[in-house]
Amino acid sequence: MRNFLKKYGLLVWLSLILIAGFIAVVLTSFTVSRNSLQHGIAEQTLPITGDNIYSEIQKDILRPVFVSSQMAQDTFVRDWIIGGEEDTTAIVKYLKEIKSKNNAISSFLVSDLSHRYYHADGTLKTVSETEARDQWFFRVRKLKTPYETNVDLDLANHDNMTIFINYRIFDYDGKFIGVTGIGLTLDTMKRLIDSYQSRFHRNIYFVDTKGNIVLAGTSVKRLGNTILKANGISSIAAQILANKKSESLHLEYQTENDSILVNSRFIPELGWHLLVEQEMSSEIRPLQEVLMLNAAIGALITIVVLILVLLSVRRYQTRIEKTAATDQLTSLLNRQAFDFVFENAVLDAERSRQPLCVALVDIDFFKKVNDKHGHLVGDHVLKEIAMIAKRSLRESDVICRWGGEEFLILLKNCTLEKATAIAENLRLTIANNDFSRTTDLARKKLSVTVSMGVAQCKDKESEDSVFERADVALYQAKQNGRNSVYFSE
Ligand code: GH3
Ligand code: MG
Ligand code: MG
Repeated sequence: MRNFLKKYGLLVWLSLILIAGFIAVVLTSFTVSRNSLQHGIAEQTLPITGDNIYSEIQKDILRPVFVSSQMAQDTFVRDWIIGGEEDTTAIVKYLKEIKSKNNAISSFLVSDLSHRYYHADGTLKTVSETEARDQWFFRVRKLKTPYETNVDLDLANHDNMTIFINYRIFDYDGKFIGVTGIGLTLDTMKRLIDSYQSRFHRNIYFVDTKGNIVLAGTSVKRLGNTILKANGISSIAAQILANKKSESLHLEYQTENDSILVNSRFIPELGWHLLVEQEMSSEIRPLQEVLMLNAAIGALITIVVLILVLLSVRRYQTRIEKTAATDQLTSLLNRQAFDFVFENAVLDAERSRQPLCVALVDIDFFKKVNDKHGHLVGDHVLKEIAMIAKRSLRESDVICRWGGEEFLILLKNCTLEKATAIAENLRLTIANNDFSRTTDLARKKLSVTVSMGVAQCKDKESEDSVFERADVALYQAKQNGRNSVYFSE
């Protein structure tokens, strides 16, 4: 592990930095986009939807209010009541006319004098203070405002929500004489809810002051009958119901797998809260796709960069290792690298019980070659000797440049006898070689000889000791006339 870190530390750091960078970029851009999206929905989209619905509702309500107001101020209606409600057909005709002109589902008049309830189809009944169904009349009678809007909750099912405008009628002295008005279905509102719901995937619904869901699109059914008990939204139900001002509230609640933004506003004309909500998950999905795409691109770039870095680091490393281990002039192993090779060879030899020999090679009177022909020629000679040695040795043998004009040969699986023979063979090849061919000396023959000392590694013998013995043998060769091979017993 430590070795790996040492070798690929740069790579590890680079990957960490790249990955951290990509994660940071992807996550911040996702968070920023998500927040701005959420902000946009909460501050603009939902309030605009709420406002549109509210203004449509007002339109729906204002029209019948206007009609009812005209009915209440109509001199015919007032005169007819003051005149003792004599010609029932006349008032029924009037109510019928109003009903059909305004596409209303009902038009009515209740006299305070007779308590009779007149209807487009005739006289319905007499209202009584003790009847629960007639309570609305006695409520309107005491009203301080000229009219009230009353949404008939019995009819407020999903298909047919009816709103009644109950307008107070006064005689010419300002005395209360009855109530008139029309009932209409809030068709436009219903259509609007449906279109918003399908176009913008928003849930639109109304709750009354007690939290009961009174009108909703189909997708809101999951909430049940009241927001007080519905999953998620119950946590903000109190806030919604407490808001009695016409400004809208921005709220948020969580379900098991989504977060939902809510815009709530109170509609005084209805006494209901209008709720417009949007699920964040459907809005965030495209963002998540972009996030995944970014992450994939990031990963791809990281991988490509890492592969490129790994390849070039590897190439440089091999080159550096090679340069550090080889001798520049002869391309042989240098002494430092050889130490490592030699240690392994000794271990191998011990393990496999095979003999291992070393041969030290020293060029004879090399100083003279330099002196006579120059350093460049000397270098060529060194190179050529290296080449000859490489050629004449086995693949498994290792040759290294030991010093200036000295080489060391490691002969694996080789007895002293065989090593001496190989050394002798090499000495002969070198002695017979004409070095002038590789130099600029042209026709003049250049002969060079070498002296060699061979030694076999003994059991448990130290590295220094075996080289020392080879060196002694080499010294003997030098002493005894050079151009010869000596071995240490
Ligand atoms: P001996 O037979 O006793 O070994 O004589 P010698 O002249 O070879 O030995 P000595 O150690 O006195 O001289 C070695 C010479 O090798 C000296 C040095 O200038 C030369 N030499 C060492 N390295 C290089 C090299 O890289 N290139 C060249 N051209 N000469 C080198
Ligand atoms: Mg020497
Ligand atoms: Mg020499």
